[in-house]
Amino acid sequence: MPAAHPDTAQVIAENREYTLFSWSVQNQTNPIHMTGGKGSHFYDGDGNTWLDFSSQLINLNVGHQHPKVLQAIKDQVDVMCFAGPSFATDVRATLGKKLAEVTGLAKSFFTLGGSEANENAMKMARLYTGRDKIITRYRSYHGATMGSMTASGDPRRWPVEPGVPGIVRAFDPYCYRCPFGKSPDSCQRECVSHIEEIIQMEGPGNIAAIMVEGITGSNGLLVPPDDYFPKLRALCDKYGILLIDDEVMSGFGRTGTWLATQHYGIKPDIVTCAKGLTSGYMPLGAMIVSDKIAEYFETHFLAGGLTYSGHPVSLAAAIGNLAVYEEEDLFARSTELGHYLGERLEAMRMKYACVGDVRYKGLFSVIELVRDKDTKEPLAPFNGTSPEMGKLAGHIKSKHVYAFSRFNMIWICPPLNISKADLDAGLAVYEEALSLVDQMVAGAVAAD
Ligand code: PLP
Repeated sequence: MPAAHPDTAQVIAENREYTLFSWSVQNQTNPIHMTGGKGSHFYDGDGNTWLDFSSQLINLNVGHQHPKVLQAIKDQVDVMCFAGPSFATDVRATLGKKLAEVTGLAKSFFTLGGSEANENAMKMARLYTGRDKIITRYRSYHGATMGSMTASGDPRRWPVEPGVPGIVRAFDPYCYRCPFGKSPDSCQRECVSHIEEIIQMEGPGNIAAIMVEGITGSNGLLVPPDDYFPKLRALCDKYGILLIDDEVMSGFGRTGTWLATQHYGIKPDIVTCAKGLTSGYMPLGAMIVSDKIAEYFETHFLAGGLTYSGHPVSLAAAIGNLAVYEEEDLFARSTELGHYLGERLEAMRMKYACVGDVRYKGLFSVIELVRDKDTKEPLAPFNGTSPEMGKLAGHIKSKHVYAFSRFNMIWICPPLNISKADLDAGLAVYEEALSLVDQMVAGAVAAD
């Protein structure tokens, strides 16, 4: 049990007084004072230990304070903290080569995070194809910078609209609530075929890329049908459109493979990644391009750059982190524990009236809550919340399990090296909360 911090109230007060918190009305923020962590747990200023069922922002794949990643960072700090982006460095060679190997692509451009990786991906696609438009999907998040924000279909884009020009949106492979009203029996993969109609309406010669998440993360963890990506790849090839695969959240073992799209046997033209690349130990993103795009830039100007592109300490953190994945066989663990998690989630779907759908791949999973299984009425509206969702999240928080929830969904995305005992402990708390929600919907339990 960690000791309580002597000044925790003051630390929180000064954080709130002097800094701005993301995605919040500032006077409604109530941050946890984090003081440290180890493995799947972190500690707060009151001396509580939390079970991290969200790997922070679904990025801390190797858990808190992994000694091998810490050592890789310390070793690099002693050698060289910084080199400008035009310099060659040992770590840049090592990581570039490794990313080419694991993605099957050719060259990486390094950024500081996922939003910048997507900005650069869209820019590269435009430079390479000479076309302007990018097709993205409604239930998507690609980042908070202006271009990546506009590319996102997520309502987080609304405040910055109209944003950047040239973004066109399509519907998603959301089988539980098919936007085309289809069932698995009647489905003709309209989620892909309607994109062809969009291409026709927008002008095939104007579309540079289709940008999609490998598996949609914060907009509902939408696992596509197995033939979705092969069909999307074929559509791109038919019209000379690049396929940009945003693996910022779904990459690096989260679903059991380097890239979520590797489950579906396709190769994108551009991959973007961040989060699990360093497990968040240092800020880093990458935009990785295919041979043909790399070849193009051999003789054409690459109009882009960042002071911190290729930051040596970030690259060293990534190299150390990727080594942990391999040495500790964490992707196999994500797959194996993910099977167990899937069974537990399916059992919850059967047991609790409020569990409408469960979706999962590896240790990437979500529970979607409904008021009524037959009508599928969401337990909270799109882009909103409800007393029942408040009860669910409040109960889980009161047990010091840290979880990501949004609208009518709650995610389970623990570190890939979580123990089965810790996974069980967290799931037991989720089940208590689901039971409370069932009672509340039935009128037996009041809101807080
Ligand atoms: N793309 C996806 C799929 C994401 O989930 C996120 C962040 O959650 C981003 C891009 C943006 O990454 P960052 O916050 O590192 O800029």
